[in-house]
Amino acid sequence: MRILLTNDDGIHAPGLDLLEAIAARLSDDVWVCAPAEEQSGAGHSLTLNFPVRLRQFGPKRFAVSGTPSDAVNLALRKLFPDRSPDMVISGVNGGENLADDITYSGTISAAMEAALAGIPAVALSQAMRDGGNGFSAAAGWAERVLAPLADAPLAKRTVINVNFPALPADAVKGIRVVRQGFHDYSRGSLVEGIDPRGRPYFWFGLEDVEHSLDRGTDLEAVDEGYVSVTPLQLDLTHHATLGTLAERYSG
Ligand code: MN
Repeated sequence: MRILLTNDDGIHAPGLDLLEAIAARLSDDVWVCAPAEEQSGAGHSLTLNFPVRLRQFGPKRFAVSGTPSDAVNLALRKLFPDRSPDMVISGVNGGENLADDITYSGTISAAMEAALAGIPAVALSQAMRDGGNGFSAAAGWAERVLAPLADAPLAKRTVINVNFPALPADAVKGIRVVRQGFHDYSRGSLVEGIDPRGRPYFWFGLEDVEHSLDRGTDLEAVDEGYVSVTPLQLDLTHHATLGTLAERYSG
């Protein structure tokens, strides 16, 4: 099995080192292509207005001067012209990617880039809510999450979003397959200040974001100490609204 790894925290991220160690136990054909710098929050952006550069750090290890989507897209076009990877794994992100984090997340967007190309894709994120435990849960549980996915019949254009709770590995209760929850980032904290040239600036904080801990969601599972596994689809169409909206425009 050929596996491509990436990480939106950049080529030198500790979560990428961890993922390389885990992937080496699953395959002997592991490649890395990641952004040269941290790109958290970059979403699914592709660099179009200036060139990107590919820098090689080892036989199968590359950095891209761009976004997480650039890294995966360039890898697929340039590094694998003949035989695509069988799986792309993005992570392990330092920080959770739960609920509506999905649309902001460089970690999940890198996996989406692979899913668009028809390649099974997994995003791994380690919650760090209370700090202190680092990547312990991911280190102890990632292989148990990934092994069953290797030969699972995954639907095309889907991404498996995995989040590890902020606990030591031996305190994690298990794995739950759950749906996406809901955050409201419009009410989070906002840091305001004056820059050295006297102009006001704003900095988005992540505190005080409203979380819904509805039953059966990724937020609830991680909050209760489980690893959450959520299948995401790239078809964002709201199918239930197709009919009612079409009626509005008919006649
Ligand atoms: Mn990140």
